[in-house]
Amino acid sequence: MNDVKVMKVDAIRNGTVIDHIPAGRVQRVLAILKPRKTDVVMMGMNFSSKAMQKKDIIKIEGRELNQHEVNSIALIAPDAKVSIIRDFNVTQKFKVEVPEVIEGLVKCPNPKCITNAEPMETRFRLVDAAGPDLACQYCERVYSADEMDHI
Ligand SMILES: [Zn+2]
Repeated sequence: MNDVKVMKVDAIRNGTVIDHIPAGRVQRVLAILKPRKTDVVMMGMNFSSKAMQKKDIIKIEGRELNQHEVNSIALIAPDAKVSIIRDFNVTQKFKVEVPEVIEGLVKCPNPKCITNAEPMETRFRLVDAAGPDLACQYCERVYSADEMDHI
């Protein structure tokens, strides 16, 4: 018999699978999804991946992500792949993408930035997709998305 290891995570009937999350970031993605107490969430950590060294996976039952959530996830996991499952079939599969303009998703880390003093929506421009690095439209400072707190 061949020594083939088959790993099977429970299939979900309806919901979302987020794959290719960099290892160790599953909790941060989960913080964006804010699952309710009754939501069924499956998390896989440190899977081997051809494209990445190690990756994490999240499956969440009964939820389809909105664009706001997808964009927030892109800032933490720029290579994540999202699959929407309906009746056990993948009906949609796409790679997340950091938008050119990021509005109201993350806080500016600059304590002197006006966005931290006034009740207003933050606005950043994508300056480097590889980071991803974002420039605050108000204070003009550039930060890596990694060091920013999500709203
Ligand atoms: Zn700022």
